[in-house]
Amino acid sequence: MNQAINVYHAQEDAFGAEAVYANTLTRQEAQKKSMEILHSDFVGDLIDQYDFIHDADMDFEVKTNDKRYKRSQANDAGAVFVDGSRSIYVVIHEIAHALTINNDADDSGHGPEFAFCFLQLVKHFLGRNAGIDLSMAFMSNDVNDKPKGSNANSKPQRTKEDDELDQMMADIDDGSYLSNDYE
Ligand SMILES: [Zn+2]
Repeated sequence: MNQAINVYHAQEDAFGAEAVYANTLTRQEAQKKSMEILHSDFVGDLIDQYDFIHDADMDFEVKTNDKRYKRSQANDAGAVFVDGSRSIYVVIHEIAHALTINNDADDSGHGPEFAFCFLQLVKHFLGRNAGIDLSMAFMSNDVNDKPKGSNANSKPQRTKEDDELDQMMADIDDGSYLSNDYE
């Protein structure tokens, strides 16, 4: 299995090729953005929650204009952005590699573990609509974002707020919510 091409097509469909392949960020901005994301509470929670998502190096280093590479790439020590791909989309894509490298089921590194992580990062850092766009583009491009044998596909744990809301709805149904309030 090699999902790389499908992932590239999906991100172009979701965000537009012109936006993905643009030098929107300087090297310094790409470095700063990478650190913000890697050291965010959100990524800390992902690492705690999913066995296939791990921490990147504290001194994760962003490089640009390295002529040895044709495509941007990353491992947990750093990322290289080739000219024409210094956009927030490619930064998030490479961070998803840094967080899942060696834990991905696909020989290209673009398997379900990577795709799941990429989608979580997009949803959180680019917003719900961007997340929906990418999720739909994954579907139409046959990108599998459901890691096998991991806890990524289990339902989220119910919170106390969920229980309280259910109780309130039940009370409204049988009228006890209103009568309690007005007694
Ligand atoms: Zn990639």
